[in-house]
Amino acid sequence: MEVEPLYGGIEAGGTKFICAIGSGPDDIRAEERFPTTSPAETIGRAVAFFRRWQEAGGPALSAIGIASFGPLDADPASPTFGYITVPPKPGWANTDFAGAVQRALNLPAAFDTDVNAAALAEWRWGAGRGLHTLVYLTVGTGIGGGAIVHGRLLHGLAHPEMGHMRIPHDRERDPFPGVCPYHGDCLEGLAAGPALEARWGQPAESLPPDHPAWELEANYLALGLMNLVYALAPQRIILGGGVMEQSHLFPRIRQKLLQLFKGYVANPALLQDMERYILPPALGQRAGVLGAIALAQQTHLSGGK
Ligand code: ADP
Ligand code: ZN
Repeated sequence: MEVEPLYGGIEAGGTKFICAIGSGPDDIRAEERFPTTSPAETIGRAVAFFRRWQEAGGPALSAIGIASFGPLDADPASPTFGYITVPPKPGWANTDFAGAVQRALNLPAAFDTDVNAAALAEWRWGAGRGLHTLVYLTVGTGIGGGAIVHGRLLHGLAHPEMGHMRIPHDRERDPFPGVCPYHGDCLEGLAAGPALEARWGQPAESLPPDHPAWELEANYLALGLMNLVYALAPQRIILGGGVMEQSHLFPRIRQKLLQLFKGYVANPALLQDMERYILPPALGQRAGVLGAIALAQQTHLSGGK
């Protein structure tokens, strides 16, 4: 019987790390979570988790995948590949994350953003299976997006920053200036969880479904999605993150997006099929750590390219 390769995954979030060993959603053999503190301590705990597996004689790992908060350098040709670059998280600037893991465990280490990894996992095992071009957008503490284009994660100058798109902002309807420290009223500044909380004076999760916050929210997200549809022509858009736990947002966003198209899309079948076009993630909370495993698998199967 052919033995399926086994991988390590690290989901590195701003508040917690999740480490796992496995080969996919139905095969997670070990898992551990701990809070994010300093780089040395937190990366050290992750390394220790995989070392224990190795020392206990568990089946060998073929690669480690790291799905991290950013901004980060995921370009294998860059001298600072594997680094977290200039994050809002104190103490983590210029951290050689992937290099530290790779040297400590002597294994190839794949490295990408948490949202790119989640896009990869949803494509591989979740709501994007069978497609070649899709977008995964998370609406949580920030807004971030990853795209699979022709079966590969989209990387260019760096990873995309879809949350910082500009969208029309009608200041008569919504005088709130936005919370993005760089742009004020970009998509993230207007529609991420902290923007909802600052605009309405209460946490997003406590706003009832009939609160006017949600019509505005659906409007902003639909404007952002319209730009993504027109720019990337994804075959599907998957919307995750804490704010999208408000499941009533899905029908509202679909309806607003239809209105915004005004009948103009290159594939008119889309206009009849919005329920299958805008979807929640199938992997839910597990998309991050499974994404890390998917990154490791991708690196292993491509021979490190
Ligand atoms: P993170 O982005 O930090 O990984 P989340 O995706 O959970 O984590 O996003 C946290 C943000 O989402 C917070 O601003 C919070 O207010 C908001 N949020 C979390 N759960 C819900 C919910 N059920 N409904 C609406 N907003 C939520
Ligand atoms: Zn911004």
